[in-house]
Amino acid sequence: MEIRRDPITQSWVVLGHREASDETNCPFEKPAIDKQQAILSWPAEGPWQVRVVPHPDPLYRIEGEAGRRADGIYDKMGPVGAHEVVVETPDHNKRLSQLTDEEIERVIWVWATRVADLKKDLRLKHVTVYKNQGVLSGEEWPHAHSEVTGTIFVPRRIKYELRASREWYREKERCVFCDIVRQEEKLGKRIVDVQGDYYALCPYAARVPYEIWVLHRRHNHLFETPKPGGNRRQLAALLGRVLRRLDKFAPAYHLVVHTAPNTRNKKGELAGYWKTLADDFHWHIEILPIVESRSKSYSIKETYFNAVLPEQAAEYLRSVDPGS
Ligand SMILES: [Zn+2]
Ligand SMILES: [Zn+2]
Ligand SMILES: [Zn+2]
Repeated sequence: MEIRRDPITQSWVVLGHREASDETNCPFEKPAIDKQQAILSWPAEGPWQVRVVPHPDPLYRIEGEAGRRADGIYDKMGPVGAHEVVVETPDHNKRLSQLTDEEIERVIWVWATRVADLKKDLRLKHVTVYKNQGVLSGEEWPHAHSEVTGTIFVPRRIKYELRASREWYREKERCVFCDIVRQEEKLGKRIVDVQGDYYALCPYAARVPYEIWVLHRRHNHLFETPKPGGNRRQLAALLGRVLRRLDKFAPAYHLVVHTAPNTRNKKGELAGYWKTLADDFHWHIEILPIVESRSKSYSIKETYFNAVLPEQAAEYLRSVDPGS
């Protein structure tokens, strides 16, 4: 495995072969999971409810040579980083959406704990939490799980967001995400659901049908470090309701948590971002459902086409019973 950079778009691409698992048994069931080293178990004693294990076939590995090297005019580096699997429940037949608010809150706590811990590694510039739900999303196992990666580069989309947030702040001395929440709450038409200060909304320029962002109304650039009032039970309740709505019509989705990059690492490509980062960036969760082909969304030459207006998507989502 190696990581190469496209000199034009500056995207880092992980290249190399991954072993296709021929394992037919779920690796997250007893006794298989008990043989794996637990990075984190909750609760610490007794039967676990949430467990973090190293990815069995990781994209990135903690040990090894990180060094960025020149390859002629190009840049490449070794696949150094972290790649972990968060097993969200011991129950093979439950989806994240089917857990209680308390259980979802625990999963969120585990995500945050792993992000905070991985950020202690100065080599890691960014930590991402993501989840692929459903066969169409490319999920690796049917057992409810999410993944945490720590990378020695900042993924391209995060870089775009950092750059845009910083520009917005420079011009207006306001956080663009705070501005979005304020405007959307005033308009209401793209709001899907609200719980306390947490909002689920369809973004103005949704890339795919029923794209949803979950944001906290109060400014905070760090997902992993809640501020006073950052009640995670409310976030869990809202996330559960959003995912249960999707369960009714979207067989699969991608979910990703966007938080600020690792501020302990002040070197290299991130050096320019620090001055206003805490004020200009705002953590959020993006959910990209994969719906049936009748409302196709696709990108042609990097331009998204989405046949469902976010206003209509939000109206529909509001009408779907999230159950409990
Ligand atoms: Zn299982
Ligand atoms: Zn903000
Ligand atoms: Zn984002």
